[in-house]
Parts: sequence; C-alpha cells; structure tokens
Amino acid sequence: MTIMLEDVDEVVRALRTALADEQILTGRGDRYNRARVPAPFPVHRWSERVPDVVVLPTSTEQVAAVVKIANDLRVPVVPRDGGTGLTDGAVPLRGGILIDVKRMNQVHELDLVNRTVTVGTGINMLKLNEYLAPHGLFYPDDPASYPCSLVGGRIGTSGWSLIGARYGHTRDLVMSFDHVLPTGEILHVGDGIGRKVSKSSSGYQLKHLFMGHQGTLGIATRATLKLFPKPEAELSPFWAFDNYDDAYACTGALARAGVATFAGAVLFDEHKVAYLRRDDEAYIPQPTDVRALVCAVMYGWDDEVRAGGKRLFRIAKEHGARYLGDEISEGDWAARHDRYATPLHGRTKDGQVIPMSWHCEDAAINYSHVPSVTRAWHEIVADLRRRTDVFDDWGMFAYTSGSTGVDYLTEIDVGIWEQQLDDRAWGMWVDAKRAIARVALDHGGSISACHGSCREGEVDLVPEELGRGFDVMLDIKRTLDPNNIMNPGKYLLDRAYPEEG
Ligand SMILES: Cc1cc2nc3c(=O)[nH]c(=O)nc-3n(C[C@H](O)[C@H](O)[C@H](O)COP(=O)(O)OP(=O)(O)OC[C@H]3O[C@@H](n4cnc5c(N)ncnc54)[C@H](O)[C@@H]3O)c2cc1C
Repeated sequence: MTIMLEDVDEVVRALRTALADEQILTGRGDRYNRARVPAPFPVHRWSERVPDVVVLPTSTEQVAAVVKIANDLRVPVVPRDGGTGLTDGAVPLRGGILIDVKRMNQVHELDLVNRTVTVGTGINMLKLNEYLAPHGLFYPDDPASYPCSLVGGRIGTSGWSLIGARYGHTRDLVMSFDHVLPTGEILHVGDGIGRKVSKSSSGYQLKHLFMGHQGTLGIATRATLKLFPKPEAELSPFWAFDNYDDAYACTGALARAGVATFAGAVLFDEHKVAYLRRDDEAYIPQPTDVRALVCAVMYGWDDEVRAGGKRLFRIAKEHGARYLGDEISEGDWAARHDRYATPLHGRTKDGQVIPMSWHCEDAAINYSHVPSVTRAWHEIVADLRRRTDVFDDWGMFAYTSGSTGVDYLTEIDVGIWEQQLDDRAWGMWVDAKRAIARVALDHGGSISACHGSCREGEVDLVPEELGRGFDVMLDIKRTLDPNNIMNPGKYLLDRAYPEEG
C-alpha cells in the first residue's frame, strides 16, 4: 500500500546513495513550482498537490535507482517533463518524489543513413529541430506546445500533432525507448526489439502500452525517433466563410481530397471567430460577415505542394471560401505555437473584461458528428455562464487527426476566472466536464484525442469508454506496479488495489 511521505529525511538519505546533493531539491519554491500544470484549478488547494522531494537525474540508471528506492520505501513517484500537460498528469496528488527529467536532454546519436535520432527524453522539439536543421532533417511532432513540451511528456501523453495527418502523431514518430518500470527495472520497448525498426510482428506491441499512460506505468528515459527531410515548402491558406455549414462542408472535402502533402485542416466555428474578434489582440480583424474560418496545411517539396495547393484552393472556392491572403495565412500559421502566451482575458455576462486562464476540453469525434457535438458543448458552457461569471466560451475548433478525415480533434476553449474558482464553481466545472465527456461518448467518440482524460469529471466515464479494457488496465497496473507507487491517484487506477480501501 502506498504511504504518505512522513519522513523526508529518510528518503533524502536513501536518494543520496544514487544522486549528488545538487540533484535533490527540497526547497519550498522548487517543490511548489512543480506542483501544477497550466489547466486552471482551485488555487486555494495548491498546497494539497506539492511533492515532498524533487530529483534531477541525468541518466536512465539514476532514474531506475530513484524508482527502486521509492518502491522499497513505498513512496509515490511522479514523472514530469515540460509540465504542460492539460489533464493534471504531472501533478503530484499524493506528494512523494517528483522526477524532473529536464537534465536528460542530450542528443545521443544521429543516424543519417537510417534517418533516426536517439535523445534523452528531456529535450524539446524546438531544440531538437535546431540541432537537425543543418542536416536537412526534421522531427515533425508539432503540438501547439512545441517549444515547451518535451519528448518524454509526449510519450507519457501519446501526444497529438498539428501536422499529424501528413507525418503521424507521437505514437508513430517514436520508434523505441528505454523505460523504467515501477519496480526500477529497465526495459526497452519499440516496434521490434531493435532501436530502429518501424514495423514488427513479433509478440505484443508493447510500445503502445507504454505510451499515453500519464506516467502511471513508469518513465521513458531515452528515445529513438523517426526523421524526415526538412520540407522545402509550407502552404497554410486561411479561408473565410459567411456561415458555419459551408465551412464545415469545405473542411471535410479538403480532408477527403487525398492530396499527399496534406498535413491537416482546421475549422474554427462562429463562437471562435467572435471571441477572436472581441478579445484577441493578435487577431487581424475580419469583416463582420466572416462567421467561420478554415485553414489547410501542406508540407513537402515545392513542386508537389504547388500542385496539391492548386487542388485544395479549387475545392475551397467551390465551397464559397474567400482567401484571406498570404500575409494573414502565413502569420496565423506561424503563430500556432505562441497564441496561448498572449495576455488572457474574457468577459462577464455584462461585458466586463476580467483576467481569465485558458482551458480546453477535447474529444475525438467522427466528421459526421462534429456539428451536433459542437452545438451540445456550447450549450453546456452557456448553461454554466447562465449560473456564474467564472466561465466564458472562447469558441471551438475541429482539426483533422488523420489524412482521410475520419475523426477530428474537437476542442472547446473555455476562459476561467481562476481567482474565483472556489469549491462551488469547481464543482460546477467538474459536472460540466463530465457532461462534455458524455456528449463525446454518446456520439461514438473518445473522451480525449489529445490531452488524456485524468481530470475530475471526465475520468468518471473512462471505464465506460473502455469497457472490459478498463479491467485489463487495472490488471496491468497491479502487475507492473504492485505497490501503487507510480503516479498514484490517476485514471481511477486505485481500483486495482481494493485492499487500500
Ligand atoms: C499552450 C498549450 C498547447 C498545447 N497543445 C497541444 C497539442 O497541440 N497537442 C498535444 O498533444 N498536446 C498539447 N498540449 C498539452 C501538452 O503540451 C501535451 O500533453 C504534452 O505532450 C505534455 O508534455 P510535457 O513534456 O509538458 O509533459 P508533462 O506535462 O510533464 O507530463 C505529461 C504526462 O506524462 C507523464 N510523463 C512525463 N514525463 C514522462 C516520461 N519521461 N515518461 C513517462 N511519462 C512521463 C507525466 O507524469 C504526465 O502524466 C498543449 C498544452 C499547452 C499548455
């Protein structure tokens, strides 16, 4: 059974057998800084989620030694990379040891012939691509958190990439990795036992089991990644529409066109356009008859992007699109990694401007259900707004996940007045999150396409979504983590330990 950390000194003494003093942090600031993630939460409860010790290992062996100590002492362990995850995965719910892997950010090997790179999981994609650029190569995992999320966190969440329709998502791009199990043993998993195999039919496909587990099954320490030629051309046209229906039809037609360089299409609805016009200083104002926006993205060699682009422009025109011009298109796409850094504010029902934090709820929804999910989610947030000024609707987008346009990362952005997020408002938000997840399931979708579904409210429906698969999850958790030390309290996995009560 997992115990709360009562004797920090004993743990620190044990950690000193594996780490240097400067790798062990016990200061208040060091611990509080690693207590939360960007998703708004009731800040008056901050002190309930603080680790007791932070460690900064530099190798797989050191991570393994720390985990072994934690397992021997029955102390919780929480892996943390960039701390940008939006489902509270890196939040220590039960104190314990937080393993911050940011010092494991080396490039261990660049294999130009087989087109792979092997890195420590503490590296971010921006730095990695700066290193790769002189070789004419790039690693195309491209979340909006590109400069600040790290390879290990991408593995821990099985992340979603903005250009995934062309290059795949994190699960497709990470070929193999070293992984420390909750008992401290080291395992290598991949598409085949070799580091650089991209297709194998040997045994169970364990790589996928050790991705997207939100740190509940261990810690990835060193990963081998697939590389691509750095694209010569990028095309990212933004088109305006005077109604949602035409924009929706156009998005589907673009995704289904079968253009090889197509990397993704995104549809912004009326609420999103209204929010941008009202409250986003970076938005270049469009005429008021613009009610929806669509962007398509293409990457590749110049000649193929030109040909594919012509086809997509023709499709957009047939659907009534108005091209917004090169400057807006290139600028908006270039800003995809830093739009969330602009000062955030929202409005009360009376139009009063107030500071707000951003949060999003996401689901995987089939194309055919995107409009009805969009309507239902806006209604849930409108209902919240009728009852309190703590929440504001910042609109929705739907973004292709695959090149055939079958399902869309469907996301609603909600402004939250975090200083007013008392227990009552938090309770309302948890109910709303549960209702949002319910709509996704009722439409045959998945609660999360992107961030995971660990947070209060949404997590309640995970057993329903996974069915018998959830029982298998519990069996696996208990087998691999007999003492429930690895990121305890997440994903309802405590149910694997009924004796803990
Ligand atoms: C502005 C913004 C934009 C975003 N856009 C996107 C987007 O486009 N696509 C997307 O997928 N996500 C997006 N996210 C969410 C977030 O960036 C991703 O979930 C990302 O993969 C988290 O990486 P991280 O390094 O910050 O991980 P962390 O937040 O540190 O950890 C995430 C989870 O993985 C676990 N973990 C951490 N390190 C390891 C490890 N080495 N081994 C095993 N498990 C580990 C943690 O315990 C936690 O459960 C966005 C977030 C923000 C703030």
